[in-house]
Amino acid sequence: MNTSDVFNIEAHYTDEQMLIKDTIKTWVNQKVKPVIEEHFLDGSSIKNIVKELAEIGAFGFIFPEKYGGLNMDYVSYGILMQELERGDSSIRVIASIQTSLVMFAISQFGSDDQKNEYLPKLSSGEYLGAFGLTEPSFGSNPAGMHSYYYEDGDNIVINGSKMWIGNSELSDIAIAWMKDESGNVKGVIVDRYKITNFNATTFQDKWSFRASKTGELVFSNSVLPKGQVLQNSKSIKDAYECLNIGRYAVACGSIGIALECFEIALNYSKERIQFGLPIGSKQLIQKKLAEMSTEITKAQLLCFHLGKLLDSGSYGHEQISLAKRNNVRMAQKIARDSREILGGMGISSEYPIMRHLINTETLVTYQGTNEIHELILGKALTGLNAF
Ligand SMILES: Cc1cc2nc3c(=O)[nH]c(=O)nc-3n(C[C@H](O)[C@H](O)[C@H](O)COP(=O)(O)OP(=O)(O)OC[C@H]3O[C@@H](n4cnc5c(N)ncnc54)[C@H](O)[C@@H]3O)c2cc1C
Repeated sequence: MNTSDVFNIEAHYTDEQMLIKDTIKTWVNQKVKPVIEEHFLDGSSIKNIVKELAEIGAFGFIFPEKYGGLNMDYVSYGILMQELERGDSSIRVIASIQTSLVMFAISQFGSDDQKNEYLPKLSSGEYLGAFGLTEPSFGSNPAGMHSYYYEDGDNIVINGSKMWIGNSELSDIAIAWMKDESGNVKGVIVDRYKITNFNATTFQDKWSFRASKTGELVFSNSVLPKGQVLQNSKSIKDAYECLNIGRYAVACGSIGIALECFEIALNYSKERIQFGLPIGSKQLIQKKLAEMSTEITKAQLLCFHLGKLLDSGSYGHEQISLAKRNNVRMAQKIARDSREILGGMGISSEYPIMRHLINTETLVTYQGTNEIHELILGKALTGLNAF
């Protein structure tokens, strides 16, 4: 039995999808795993990681070749996210902010000029993007946002702030969501080289996603050309459409965390001798392993099918909520159980388990908290709004 793929899902992968899996896994083993622990511990990003991710095609992955993309399907994108997050959430996050949130927003809601100007630069890694939806007073309820703009001749003037923004200070552009003069939410391409009176900062202290930069975008009578508003964006629903793809990436990435922790715990259980026998020979440890394997298999089946639904274009946001909520909780429990199986060594930075476990604390909260996805599902099931 393939202990990492009990239901033999990989038998349904195309040759190209297997190649993506193997190539990214090797890349993560060579470029990420040897150095990530030290970056996580001192809260820094891997040097040149943006350039390197661009080189393996991680940014334009699902977009047309004319924009520098690879024109891949969503099942393949899920495999990419899974394998990147085996290394660390920070690596998957850079790729998925750039692709699922920033490039997706421009490709869905931008004009041809906006696509031609920004998508090739984002695919090649010349530009790094950020996605600004959350505000200090509006997290789970972003529709209430305070950030707004008004038109002033050929420009717009922006006020407000965005909080908890991945890549904030490092980004060349950010898709920031704000209200127009009629109160409709629009996406705006905040281009660092075109805006004035704007500041982006990084939070120095955080316990999760430590190898990823997170911070604030602050607009104070900031001035941008009017042409930076995403031409076809109309409402907060557009931001949620981007989040659908982001949440799928989180659901798939969570499998990478779970597999990484499970594989370590399984090997350890066969080697660690206590009471004269490997701990893996004990029924209580086997129960843990059996449950972990079952939950990983369920999560793998969910994501494989969800990828197919995305590829066919017939998916609902409730299906994405179900997968995101299930898979991040699954990864968190498996990281925690793996940590226990390693005993004291589970705490050591010799193994990546605690790092992954700490990262899952963000996964259950960002891109819609556990509770928000429960409310989305509850509404879909009952027809009653409990927000
Ligand atoms: C490391 C990190 C990176 C992030 N990156 C980004 C990013 O790049 N871009 C971006 O826009 N945002 C980002 N976020 C923000 C993230 O999406 C928000 O933190 C999240 O949406 C929750 O908002 P909040 O923190 O304000 O919590 P709140 O909305 O204040 O929620 C607090 C608690 O109340 C619960 N709650 C809220 N409403 C209800 C309700 N109606 N019923 C029951 N319970 C409820 C929540 O589930 C939660 O448990 C990031 C966050 C983190 C931690």
